[in-house]
Amino acid sequence: MSFERRQTKQIHVGKVAVGGGAPISIQSMTTTKTSDVEGTLQQIYALAAAGCDIVRCTCNEIEAAEGLAQIVPRSPVPIIADIHHQSQIVPRSPVPIIADIHHQYRMALAALEAGVHGLRLNPGNIRKPEHIKAVAMEARDRNVPIRIGVNGGSLDPALYEKHGGLTAEAMVESALQEIAYFQEVDFDLIKISVKASNVPLMVEAYRQLSAVTNYPLHLGVTEAGPLPNGLIKATAGISTLLLEGIGDTIRYSLTADPVEEARAGRQLLESLGLRERKNVDLIACPSCGRAEIDVIEVANRAMRAFEDKKIPLQIAVMGCVVNGPGEAREADLGIAAGNKRGHLFVKGRNVAVVPESEMVEALVDWATYIHEHGVEAAIARVDTTIAEREAAKDRNALLEEKGDDANHSTEKIVEIRKTISGN
Ligand code: SF4
Repeated sequence: MSFERRQTKQIHVGKVAVGGGAPISIQSMTTTKTSDVEGTLQQIYALAAAGCDIVRCTCNEIEAAEGLAQIVPRSPVPIIADIHHQSQIVPRSPVPIIADIHHQYRMALAALEAGVHGLRLNPGNIRKPEHIKAVAMEARDRNVPIRIGVNGGSLDPALYEKHGGLTAEAMVESALQEIAYFQEVDFDLIKISVKASNVPLMVEAYRQLSAVTNYPLHLGVTEAGPLPNGLIKATAGISTLLLEGIGDTIRYSLTADPVEEARAGRQLLESLGLRERKNVDLIACPSCGRAEIDVIEVANRAMRAFEDKKIPLQIAVMGCVVNGPGEAREADLGIAAGNKRGHLFVKGRNVAVVPESEMVEALVDWATYIHEHGVEAAIARVDTTIAEREAAKDRNALLEEKGDDANHSTEKIVEIRKTISGN
């Protein structure tokens, strides 16, 4: 199942295509001083490993621009690394780098000189037309795209006054004004964002913007805040728009380790079927009176065990063997608890029984096998009748013990009625 995406013009941020039907890319921003080249590169590598396609670094001072010159990936430069004269490659960013410019247009020129693959300009911060056009001309000559990054918190005061406050219309007008300056100097490698911390406002601004321009859009809820609230706010705004076909690249702005932003972005896109799955999709039942294990604890342990494994399977952790295998029959692999044992199932077929204490390890073993050999081979490697018989045994034992009403609701209702009637 898929939904139609709005057609936009395609631009390239280094090797990453944005818009025009390209996969929706994931962005994040470093929190280090950009002049700290080693620290910034470490964060960039961690972000790339977590699924980030493009990283933005601040360029607020000349030392930051100098740092960018060492960080941006260009042709690998061989250096003499040690006394054995072995040549090594100077580490560079594995992903394209965008420079975030604050108030000084000269920093944008310096970042371009450093070789960045993109700029982000805030029209509320750099307002002189001659400065905006000077940057656009330099970017045009170097074939480097610019994001017009309108931010609700730093809107041009003139627009704020004209629209009677912060409105979607004011943010869209800010973006259109900047586009007009760019067009005057024949620059059209543009993408746009109209971020606000208020989700309905941000959604409305992007909807209005997408109706009047076909430049690619960068989605985000600005200053979404710490986890988990920030994650929910950002997901609400970004996914609403993505499901309407709006958006070409995304960034979660969280008050957290930026790696969380990259993970969230990838998980969102994978959940919506907008990016190919790279990691496990762990599903788990919410638990109920039937649960035979602490589902939260086992699911969290499984989550940690699969965290760094690139196994693109859906894996289920279910609290009981009575309903678990049936409820999760679409999962590639799952485990359900019953009578102190874990019942493993592949595509709904019981394949093995393991001690309860080894449930997570068994999941990792089977997931690795399925990833390498496929579902059919995994089912074929065991005699499923044994596992099915054991599962049926535990299921029947639990049904006998707890019956169909695991929460004892019938008895509870009788007690409630007695309490109310005073008998
Ligand atoms: S019935 Fe079993 S699988 Fe379903 S929520 Fe309850 S414990 Fe989990």
